[in-house]
Amino acid sequence: MKKTVLVSGGAGFIGSHVTVELIEAGYDVVVADNFSNCDRTGYEGVKKITGRDDLPLEIVDFCDMAQVKALFAKYPIDAVIHFAAYKAVGESVAKPVMYYKNNLMSFLNVLEAAQDKGGCNVLFSSSATVYGEPEAVPVTEKTPRQPATSPYGNTKTMCEDILRDTVKASGGAVKGILLRYFNPIGAHPSALIGELPRGVPNNLVPYITQTAIGKRECLSIFGNDYPTPDGTCLRDYIDIVDLAKAHVFAVTRMMDGKMKENCEVFNIGTGRPLSVLELVTAFEKVNNLKLNYRFAPRRAGDVTAIWADPTLANTEMGWKATRSIEETLKAAWAWEKHLAGK
Ligand code: UDP
Repeated sequence: MKKTVLVSGGAGFIGSHVTVELIEAGYDVVVADNFSNCDRTGYEGVKKITGRDDLPLEIVDFCDMAQVKALFAKYPIDAVIHFAAYKAVGESVAKPVMYYKNNLMSFLNVLEAAQDKGGCNVLFSSSATVYGEPEAVPVTEKTPRQPATSPYGNTKTMCEDILRDTVKASGGAVKGILLRYFNPIGAHPSALIGELPRGVPNNLVPYITQTAIGKRECLSIFGNDYPTPDGTCLRDYIDIVDLAKAHVFAVTRMMDGKMKENCEVFNIGTGRPLSVLELVTAFEKVNNLKLNYRFAPRRAGDVTAIWADPTLANTEMGWKATRSIEETLKAAWAWEKHLAGK
């Protein structure tokens, strides 16, 4: 019998790509979203890509326990992948209560529902932000976490701990996997789903594509005096489809009873650092265009360099990033052009 995966925040950037990969791997998926930070583009795109016009969509506020209970009563949920959360670092500094309330409450409700049904597989979307400014790179899962520098980052650290404690207290009835994402970028090769930032993008790649299409005048490269080879920050940019596939490996590992511990952590990155300038140059080259950019002062809170050691995910889960940065940046540009109707 097909297994059912609930994807909270399933209409968002990562959630929509994960939904596609789960369906293609043969899972039944329930998309749950309250559309507080996205429109229906992602959900409609997933239906087109997969040909699943009947893809279940539940409009759910995960902060409302009654709604979460009803969801768990309606579907035979074997695993939950939890994305439903706010994600803007700057906004979290300005509105900490809103961030803690939303990101913690929604996850607590999922865990309570998982406990109430006597156990469940829970996959939490964590982030490399938990490593802060690491003392050594690349980072492994054993690299110590650093105190968070924003309420957003803190919700990731706190949710990691909450899941770990819940798994432990459940005696293994609740199982957990924490995936720590590095920098997810790109879009589905169909150009039917991708990132849809509201307002001015905070992240590098949407800012680049919006500048290239003419929506923004000029990209500011934040800092060219970092102690790196070209002076700009180093990151591990991971293709969104590769990242989405990691979720299929993780869910299958849980379902098949392959976990070595009841709560596991995996870095999801390529293992290859790229500087901001290298990324910009690669974007220009692969898409055959010139980008308007200038160097600007450093952005507060940015770490100099971080990239993953993905060995554990490679060897234990059997997952590996496969898409080249060229493919990824082509897909990001195709998506921006699709949005502009070009
Ligand atoms: N960045 C930049 N200009 C921008 C947005 C980002 O130079 O408009 C840089 C940022 O300083 C960092 C890198 O791009 O070095 C990745 O930033 P992003 O916000 O995409 O992800 P983060 O690593 O902060 O999670």
